[in-house]
Amino acid sequence: MDENRLRIAMLSAHSCPVGDLGARDTGGMSVYIRELAHELGKQGHHVDVYTRAHDPADRQIVDLGQQARLIHLKAGEEEQIHKLAVYSYLPEFTCNLENFRKNNGLRYDIIFSHYWLSGWVGKYLQQWWQVPHVVMFHTLGAVKNAIGIGEDASELRIVTEREAVNDCQRVIVATEREKEELIRRYGAPPDKIGIVPCGVNMEIFQPVARMAARQKLGLTNGKILLFVGRIDPLKGVDQLLKAIPRLQDFKGLRMIIIGGDEYSRSEVERLRKLTGKLKIQDRVTFQGLIKQEQLPYFYSAADVCVVPSYYESFGLVALESLACGTPVVAADVGDLKNIIRQGETGYVVDGNTPQNLADGIALLLSRPPGDVDSALSIRDSINRYSWANIAEGVISELSLSTDRQMTPVA
Ligand code: UDP
Repeated sequence: MDENRLRIAMLSAHSCPVGDLGARDTGGMSVYIRELAHELGKQGHHVDVYTRAHDPADRQIVDLGQQARLIHLKAGEEEQIHKLAVYSYLPEFTCNLENFRKNNGLRYDIIFSHYWLSGWVGKYLQQWWQVPHVVMFHTLGAVKNAIGIGEDASELRIVTEREAVNDCQRVIVATEREKEELIRRYGAPPDKIGIVPCGVNMEIFQPVARMAARQKLGLTNGKILLFVGRIDPLKGVDQLLKAIPRLQDFKGLRMIIIGGDEYSRSEVERLRKLTGKLKIQDRVTFQGLIKQEQLPYFYSAADVCVVPSYYESFGLVALESLACGTPVVAADVGDLKNIIRQGETGYVVDGNTPQNLADGIALLLSRPPGDVDSALSIRDSINRYSWANIAEGVISELSLSTDRQMTPVA
């Protein structure tokens, strides 16, 4: 192995990192994998990301940039299936991955798996290849169940997560909080866990002058609140909707909700019904999926971006909003306490109760509207989260594992 160059097999078995973002199974983790793979390739590493083929129209190999590619492998029918159903195809996925590796004469220095399903695959490949396995769960089943909002994580998931924690060389988490949860709920040894935050694409996410952004989107004057994310009960959009009637002082206040695909239809319907009950249906727009390249217009057009989640493993959307110069009100989840400068670039409120969210939003809406300078200073506050920095942090963590004496596969 070249000391400074790693050959990395990245695993994202259930979720295609180039799928539409904001859909049921493609959110922050997909962004993380595609951005990180791209940046690691740029820095001279070789990255192959393996995922399950879910659409016959997809090419088997997709370029993710310099020395980084995505490889689709057959595992069950080539169609979208629920992530729990992917579990039964993992043996086929693992065998096809090994065949692809052998047929193409590939060797890897490390396996970096994402989410519990890929953790299962990584565990086997680690034994076959005798190379270290580093896992990143992105969300943890036991934590999700402790919160008790939305679909319960299965016992199978929790057992698989526990096995992956035991068998892998290292676990990477994005926050101190996630590290504590791994220790407390999974018995992970503290020195096996490395913390590297997530990043933001500072080139895509740039401030656009507010009025120009509004014009482009056909939005009128008046205060605008924005939510961006998968439409999932854990995201707490209901709490945010309940905050709106408490913001009567801001006449003409509008709320834009971005995210949600055909698989999120029932949750969108539940939220629509709630807007009716709260008599705010004419003030809330469900915008559906928006391509990331268009999101800077929405972030820049908004006065405040809100992250009302019950749980976040990090809080990417807050970073994107700040990169566009728009302040954020967020529940105290993920890494938001470190991302947001209290009273300066936004507010982190204690719980995601409608009153706490409304209080934080009111503080920001009462300020004079931000100008170009304030947008740029908000953006400057998160410079350290560029993918170039984050990729270096990830490489330090991966290298810690490759230092262990393991003989690469023949
Ligand atoms: N996203 C997007 N379009 C949408 C909704 C979300 O591009 O319509 C992106 C968003 O920019 C962010 C990611 O999806 O990078 C975050 O999704 P989410 O909040 O669902 O994160 P997760 O909960 O999966 O970590």
